Amino acid sequence: MSKDKVYIFDTTLRDGAQTEGVDFSVSEKVKIAKALNDLGVDYIEGGWPGANPTDTDFFNTPQKLDKSIFTAFGMTKKLGRSAENDPGLSPILNANTKAVCIVGKTWDFHVDVALGITKKENLENIRETAKYFIKNKREFLFDAEHFFDAYKSNPNYALDCLKQAYEEGARWLVLCDTNGGTLPNEVGEIVYEITKTIPGKNLGIHAHNDTENAVSNSLAAVLAGARQIQGTINGLGERCGNANLMSIIPSLFLKKSFSDKFELNIKKEKLASLTDCSRMLDEILNRTSNKSSAYVGASAFSHKGGLHVSAVQKDPKTYEHIDPKLVGNHRNIIVSDQAGKSNILSRLEKYGIKIDSKDPKILRILDEVKDREFSGYSYDGADASFELLANRLLGKVPEFLKVESYSVTVEKSDKLDTKAEVIFLIDGEKIKCTGKGNGPVNALDNAIRENFSKVEKYSGYFSDLKLVDYKVRILNTGTEATTRVLIESTDKTGVSWFTIGVSPNIIEASFRALIDSLDYKLFKEKAPANIKLNAK
Ligand SMILES: [Zn+2]
Repeated sequence: MSKDKVYIFDTTLRDGAQTEGVDFSVSEKVKIAKALNDLGVDYIEGGWPGANPTDTDFFNTPQKLDKSIFTAFGMTKKLGRSAENDPGLSPILNANTKAVCIVGKTWDFHVDVALGITKKENLENIRETAKYFIKNKREFLFDAEHFFDAYKSNPNYALDCLKQAYEEGARWLVLCDTNGGTLPNEVGEIVYEITKTIPGKNLGIHAHNDTENAVSNSLAAVLAGARQIQGTINGLGERCGNANLMSIIPSLFLKKSFSDKFELNIKKEKLASLTDCSRMLDEILNRTSNKSSAYVGASAFSHKGGLHVSAVQKDPKTYEHIDPKLVGNHRNIIVSDQAGKSNILSRLEKYGIKIDSKDPKILRILDEVKDREFSGYSYDGADASFELLANRLLGKVPEFLKVESYSVTVEKSDKLDTKAEVIFLIDGEKIKCTGKGNGPVNALDNAIRENFSKVEKYSGYFSDLKLVDYKVRILNTGTEATTRVLIESTDKTGVSWFTIGVSPNIIEASFRALIDSLDYKLFKEKAPANIKLNAK
């Protein structure tokens, strides 16, 4: 039985870009478009040419897209002007994309209230706009704004709007749940009704996530007959977001009720790039990735409970709905207080640390982890510190940064002045680093980072190091409070690592997490040891 094709339309660069706090530059848009093309989505909506300088520049920037159809977005023509003379349409045509996606009203309430024109005039605007682009050899997509609300309010009029574009030769009629309030059962019913007039192979779905159902609504639409899904990377979009393609694409491939009936132009092996694709967007947005994202989140295949861990080690299917590798993710066995020997073993295996399961050093690592957890450490979210600790106990980490002393002074006169000094002992030589900051931790960080060049032996390793996030938690109250600091760092590889420091003193806790981060970077890049010191 031949399978029906489902087309994927990405609107990260248009609808996603409308999110609060998101402001893509042209070069970021180019990078995202390249990743989407590599993934193999059918359409990439680049933005709205003529609507703002970034989008106009982006459409003027040559793109090498060999798998995806580059698409310009716009709005139907205005009343009282012909399509040819509408200044809103010419930049869209001049963008010279193979396809255009044009949004128009289908909800009578919006036609009356927002546009203030007659229903008939709105129908003409849709028809004339479709005719104009199709005459000019563009593949035409009509984004039927608020379609589901429109259909509930006035089904005949909503359908009439679709027909205007369809009869002129539109390739796609995209049913938009613009306000995101429709539920999957309603989407299924309405899409099915529409297929009685317009073939499903011409219908698309554009769902927003205001009831947390954008993914479900997209899948329901496909089951009811639609053959194009519009969405964004990580569900980026205004309010509660758009349909998340990072969840939709793997479900289409890996869930039998879809994979038996449908196929995509995306190659199956490209699924393994989804996790990277998701993280790339977070990197560009400088956002911490959502750990609990379906399929691609860091915790999507994490196991902590002792029973779960031992079952997963017998057969991962016991607690995993798919093999994480299929989407480029990986299994994560979390080390915690309840951790047993097997847990430590699989964690070591994850870092490629080969050790005989009877080696007594395993118990040393386990004891050390337990002791530290008792004093307030938690390696759940501090992979890099765990990896360093285990390797140190196995004698595999040479000494890198030897700190002889550090000090911080805070002085308040007219203004608050914070200075820090760190003295490293590298190859037997004292290296003094000083710096200022808006607080003690910032001053220490600056003292080290602004003087990396003085630590000649290691300076090259630190040039691309970035501290992404710094979190402080007070573990108990009163004067004996213990502070736990978690630092997230990254470098040009885009991979993040997490380090932890615990102490009753917040500065000491921060300093430990900071030095662990630097040591981890040196360790992972196999930097030379602090030799003269070790030779002593
Ligand atoms: Zn939208």
